Amino acid sequence: MAQVTCSFCGRAKKEVEVMVSGISAHICNFCVEQAHLIVGEDEKTKRAAAQPTFLLRKPKELTRYLDQYVIGQDEAKKVLTVAVYNHYKRLQQKDDPDEVQIEKSNIIMVGDTGTGKTYLAKTLAKILEVPFCIADATVLTEAGYVGEDVESILTRLLQAADYKVEAAERGIVYIDEIDKIARKSDNPSITRDVSGEGVQQALLKLLEGTVVNVPPQGGRKHPDQKMIAVNTENILFICGGAFDGITRHIGKRLHTQPMGFSTTANPIQSKEDHLLHFISAQDLKAFGLIPELIGRLPVLTHLDPLHRDTLKRILTEPKNALVKQYAKLLQMEGVALTFDPSAIDFIVDKAVEYKLGARGLRSICEAIITDAMYEIPSDPEVKELRITEDYAKSKLDSSKFKHLQVA
Ligand code: ADP
Repeated sequence: MAQVTCSFCGRAKKEVEVMVSGISAHICNFCVEQAHLIVGEDEKTKRAAAQPTFLLRKPKELTRYLDQYVIGQDEAKKVLTVAVYNHYKRLQQKDDPDEVQIEKSNIIMVGDTGTGKTYLAKTLAKILEVPFCIADATVLTEAGYVGEDVESILTRLLQAADYKVEAAERGIVYIDEIDKIARKSDNPSITRDVSGEGVQQALLKLLEGTVVNVPPQGGRKHPDQKMIAVNTENILFICGGAFDGITRHIGKRLHTQPMGFSTTANPIQSKEDHLLHFISAQDLKAFGLIPELIGRLPVLTHLDPLHRDTLKRILTEPKNALVKQYAKLLQMEGVALTFDPSAIDFIVDKAVEYKLGARGLRSICEAIITDAMYEIPSDPEVKELRITEDYAKSKLDSSKFKHLQVA
């Protein structure tokens, strides 16, 4: 019988301690150990490569990127980029107890619906290349009540991070409609307010930083799923809301507190949206956010309402402006799409008229262009499509939009 030798190093059986035999090969204990080391090294390299990273960019650089997508909102851009930059600088800080500890700078944005709050947060996350998720405050309730627990927010972030916990722990969470969980009355609750103040209380820990056991599949439907521990200390929370009627509180405060404005330039007499520039934490409290929550959202900024000129720029200027997207889609069919300037003005006027903000631009464009998008792919004769004002008018008139006419 042939002598058994290790198929890797060639040592004979009598030269080694253990020889493991497979179907047509053998391996000695030395080679097993060697192989084990190699596999370990490989795992280490893989884990190092999987370490979450983020692209730290300076505020001005971040703004330059944002400008490509988001029109206007300069004040919000400035405040956000500084807060985000500082937040990620904080993450680079070494764990040294003697060092100045930089505190977390969660953000709250106030502005009408459709003014770009979500879009700003999402674009920032994209630039920084960190996981991002959107949560809706209105579906949250205090644990144990019907609705979603606040932990469900982290389930979504984990999913966005492909369940890489370390990446999720440096992600950005946008909590929409934070104004909807305001306390119903200014008095501390007599009866329990499970979807208002109760949720605010439940959010406190999450915003500040704590280790939360997160159900990876979310919800209470899978009671036996294995929980994943997520530390929220380095997650940046950005909250947004329309805070309808908050200008009343701002006006009242400015009126009752002389702030050194001369009577001729009294901010109270200025337009409603101008009042938002003066928003402060006090107004959020008057609106019904509890002071503890406001304290955990130290960075406050506002978004300006979108006026006609801004809407027009949104429609045409950003990198992925709507008209550019439609042109790209038709270009793929070999068709050149153009919009007459008067057609653009018409679309913008309608968006203003229907009070639909930037979201309305899309619905109006869809109503105008859907017929063409339906016909063109089956008609090789068509080489160009020019959207004139008359064309836009006739398409919009024959769509459901005319029923939206504002009285
Ligand atoms: P909000 O969160 O304030 O309700 P969104 O951020 O969801 O509003 O805005 C809705 C859409 O409108 C965005 O997806 C974006 O396409 C467009 N939009 C809104 N504001 C702007 C803006 N300032 N610049 C460019 N696009 C905008």
